[in-house]
Amino acid sequence: MNDCVKEKILIVDDTPANIDVLGGILSRDYDICVAISGHMALDIVNSGEIPDLILLDIMMPEMDGYEVARLLKANQNTNHIPIIFVTAKVEDEDEAAGFEMGAVDYIRKPVNAPITLARIKSQLELKRYRDQLSWMVKEKSHKVKHSQQALVKEKKKRIQVQGDLKNTSEQAHKNQAYFRELFMNSPYGIVLIGRDKKILNSNKSFSDLFGYAHSDIVLNDFPTSSPQERTREKIKDLVQKALAGRTGKTETECRHKKGYTIQVSALAYPIKIDDVVQAVFIFFEDITQRKLFEQKLHHQAFHDVLTGIANRRYFTEQLDTFLSMQKKNLSFRFAVLLIDLDRFKNVNDSLGHQAGDQLLKMVAEKIKVCLRNNDLFARLGGDEFAILLSDADSDDQISTIAERITKAAASPFIINGQEVRISASIGVVNQTLKYDKADSLIRDADLAMYHAKDSGKAQFQFFSSRMHESALMCLTIETELRKALERDELVLYFQPIINIKSKVLEGFEALIRWRHPHRGMVQPGQFISIAEETGLILPIGDWVIQEGCRRLIELKQKTSQPLTMNLNVSIKQFLQNDFTVKLKREISKAGLSPQDIKLEFTESLLMEHTQQALKKLYVLRDLGVKLAIDDFGTGYSSLSYLQKFPIDQIKIDRSFINAMEKQKESCEIVKSILALANSLNLSTVAEGVETQLQLEQLLNFSCGSAQGYFIAKPMPWESLQRLYSKSRSFLAK
Ligand code: C2E
Ligand code: CA
Ligand code: CA
Repeated sequence: MNDCVKEKILIVDDTPANIDVLGGILSRDYDICVAISGHMALDIVNSGEIPDLILLDIMMPEMDGYEVARLLKANQNTNHIPIIFVTAKVEDEDEAAGFEMGAVDYIRKPVNAPITLARIKSQLELKRYRDQLSWMVKEKSHKVKHSQQALVKEKKKRIQVQGDLKNTSEQAHKNQAYFRELFMNSPYGIVLIGRDKKILNSNKSFSDLFGYAHSDIVLNDFPTSSPQERTREKIKDLVQKALAGRTGKTETECRHKKGYTIQVSALAYPIKIDDVVQAVFIFFEDITQRKLFEQKLHHQAFHDVLTGIANRRYFTEQLDTFLSMQKKNLSFRFAVLLIDLDRFKNVNDSLGHQAGDQLLKMVAEKIKVCLRNNDLFARLGGDEFAILLSDADSDDQISTIAERITKAAASPFIINGQEVRISASIGVVNQTLKYDKADSLIRDADLAMYHAKDSGKAQFQFFSSRMHESALMCLTIETELRKALERDELVLYFQPIINIKSKVLEGFEALIRWRHPHRGMVQPGQFISIAEETGLILPIGDWVIQEGCRRLIELKQKTSQPLTMNLNVSIKQFLQNDFTVKLKREISKAGLSPQDIKLEFTESLLMEHTQQALKKLYVLRDLGVKLAIDDFGTGYSSLSYLQKFPIDQIKIDRSFINAMEKQKESCEIVKSILALANSLNLSTVAEGVETQLQLEQLLNFSCGSAQGYFIAKPMPWESLQRLYSKSRSFLAK
């Protein structure tokens, strides 16, 4: 083979994208020609353009790869071209069928560049050796035949013949030497096996590969070096096939004389002289490195790099297998647990990604301990894990494991010397029979997990079809909510906030309502969270700001009294890049000043997005708008952050005010919140004041302002206008 001439590879595939991929991998080293059907491939080959190797797709319309291979093998001019099948089919039977058809190797789709190149390279190398060998064998027999004829024919011309004979035997002698050289020094371990299946010869590489000296190699016990029955069988089959005239290849595990295992590929092919199989060559190649590489690739494809446990792909594949096993055996029981960590994002944002990664690893370790050996544990991505519990017989048993996991997740973790606490919410699917696909089962486990989160986190929930209905309801609300914006169905209600001491009206909190054409007035509790999840909160939030500003300026035009408008702001809305810009624009467009607007945030917004939130809050304060913490006391009982944020007001959650009359404890809590706020110079509003007594108590505790049904319920714009024109003091009845 001339080094300068590239070897020619014919790619046969009906899918252009596949051709592109293979062409991309090979075009640098090889001369590529392409056929997009079996017929086209045969035309090319029969036209005399014989490639050195063919990459053949199996699944093609009209004529599949097997048929192409069969026709090529049936033709004397083309039966020597090595064929590698490129296929997504991976069953053993398929492989066997392929080798039966004369394939020399398989490449699996999606193709992997290094493996493809390595396989093609080794096949081409093999082909070169084989070409040389068969050329020599042919040449030798041809020469011998020729010289015999010459002997008979030219008996009388002895003198001349003697000369000829000398030349011929010299040539034969030379060829023999070439052959011996090639055989003995081949980098492949080669054995030559006779028709009686006894080893006739073996080369040095063979001895090196298996550690056996030539004299050790016992014929009828071939391969001596293999400890496994399966390997023996494979090699025996190979020899049998080759003796019957067919080429075969296998990959198998063998043992070196010193005891360690090696991975080898074995290629057997018949040596035919005058169309009769005379012997069989087996070429052995050490593929241990390649196998290791493949194993590594395989591991990478199915495992999560960070935690070392299975990944989503492996999990769904396993789950699909379980589902189909269950279809065959209805008593086969299993369950799926989907785990999502609560507040993980908080750790990631505040302590950094490295700490987050470390936490994930530690959580994975802790959960692993709660499981049995045959349970499959996987990381689906982010802070989401999943478990496939095999032999999950009873719900009690599943509950016990789920409880164990929630407990383990809730116990403290030490990261960089710091104690970190999180928890886990788990969704469980135990009725697995109704599912056909992993995806739909995981979706339901996810739904159950969200219910666990909604019910207060750090717990588990079994999936029930009721959850589906509520999810469906959410979906309907979502579609309708999109239309609500366009159709102008959203309205703002306004709830007065008064100064407790003077009873003077200070302003209003704008509370959204949805005037639904069929459902009537829909409260925000039924649609705000959906709006947040779907991102609809962004246009809705924009509208609230615009509408709130517009209504406030209308009121201000009626009175010289200072009034503020409280607007509720959700996390997504607040985190928008242009939130401050938009807010500023709306305020000035309405003709208000920023001090007229008070934004209400929840504690969680501040806690979960600390750095980002902090920066933005300062920008807002510099702009001049007032900032209040809503539902104070329900989120993080840590009060230290109050000093960190540039806030003006806290709104004490309704639940504390509500409990004041009955529980002394709540009184104490309200008192201490107020004391703290006063010491930090923050103004205070008590939410949900429903009785005279509550109002009096709050006055005693020096709470600044109040809002609640006792003062006034949230009201539509029309009622507000009417009320406002009657009296300034809402309590002066
Ligand atoms: P919130 O910000 O805590 O609003 C106060 C809620 O308490 C309002 O419920 C109000 O009607 C209710 N309320 C006021 N006084 C009393 C009382 O004396 N007793 C009782 N039991 N309840 C009282 P609403 O209007 O249903 O709003 C619920 C939540 O929806 C709000 O809680 C707020 O988080 C959210 N929300 C309302 N409007 C908006 C909005 O425009 N944007 C955003 N992002 N969220 C909003
Ligand atoms: Ca509020
Ligand atoms: Ca509130």
